[in-house]
Amino acid sequence: MVNDCYYDEYDRKENLHFDSKVVHGALGCDPITGSVSFPIFQTATFRHRGFGVSTGFDYSRLQNPTRQELERTMAILEEGLEAFAFTSGQAANMGVFGLLAPGDHVLLSDDIYGGTYRICSDIFSRLGCEFTYLDMADLEALEAAIRPNTKMLFVETPTNPMMKVADLPKLSEVAKRHGLLFVVDNTFLSPYFQKPMTMGADIVVHSGTKYLCGHNDVIAGIVVVSTKELADHFRLQMKSRGNGLGPFDSWLVLRGLKTLSLRMERHDQNGKKVAERLKTHPRISKLNYAGVGGMISFEVDSVETVHRVLSGVKMVLFAESLGGTESLITYPLTQTHESTPADVREKLGINERFLRLSVGIEDPEDIIADLEQALA
Ligand SMILES: *Cc1c(COP(=O)(O)O)cnc(C)c1O
Repeated sequence: MVNDCYYDEYDRKENLHFDSKVVHGALGCDPITGSVSFPIFQTATFRHRGFGVSTGFDYSRLQNPTRQELERTMAILEEGLEAFAFTSGQAANMGVFGLLAPGDHVLLSDDIYGGTYRICSDIFSRLGCEFTYLDMADLEALEAAIRPNTKMLFVETPTNPMMKVADLPKLSEVAKRHGLLFVVDNTFLSPYFQKPMTMGADIVVHSGTKYLCGHNDVIAGIVVVSTKELADHFRLQMKSRGNGLGPFDSWLVLRGLKTLSLRMERHDQNGKKVAERLKTHPRISKLNYAGVGGMISFEVDSVETVHRVLSGVKMVLFAESLGGTESLITYPLTQTHESTPADVREKLGINERFLRLSVGIEDPEDIIADLEQALA
């Protein structure tokens, strides 16, 4: 096979700082035309010039130059070996749990995204896999829960929606000692604030829908892997399930990534200001903030207050999701965590008075004023 691919050679830009890497991606410009905006290769298939000749691209379910640019950019930003861009965070997670065989056991954060819980309980449990949910801060309980058939440790940090923070280097040490695959969902902080690969993760997973894209305009998922063996697994998953991210959506995430550093910095500044002000509000108790980033959750004094806030916000939008330019307020009980079993929700504190706020990049005074008028 003669390979005359212009897209083979790319630079991992090791000499650049993170804030420059997000702007310049992997190839950055199109190697043929010099187009500064990486082109959207809206094609299903690729012409071969002759028998045994390929540009390295055959069919867009398998590889597409725009998706590849996003994947390589994410591998660079997360400091992994390779990355894969899927049609959603859920599709990415389906690939992660696709590593399991019947009889395998997985340990997960107790306070985890509802959709991840649903994949485990409604799909992989039926295939004979077992799941145990625990507080990742309790390392003794974690060690005690490890069984001979435990294969994977799946951690979200900070957790959704209670913002519990896990010690990734310590968890990685436990995973290594017991030969477990260590998977980290890095959706809430993004590689701007946290690079799990540098702390021992084998796999990093993202809902690219959130901070990576950052504009509430696309659904996407990313998996970053540390070994060739894992890369081969995800390549097979994408090829077989046919859930690779399309060229236009890949381009939107690439476009969003260029401002990741600027946005994260502002989400963080705004998050700190809003958390500080809401913490002392008379109708708010138990405010959770990890001390970094733009995600806050809290309990209000009554269900009536919840209804008043959700109907009364004007600039802040009552909507599911997080990590975008617009501030969003979410009701986890009926939205993001509807699939979490009632007893788990109860134990965690996801009750009918509980709200989650994704602090956007607007003027923080406008966010606070809007919430205060809705709470009044
Ligand atoms: C949203 C989310 C997901 C699922 O991602 P989708 O892109 O909505 O499929 C997974 N994990 C976390 C932490 C999330 O917030």
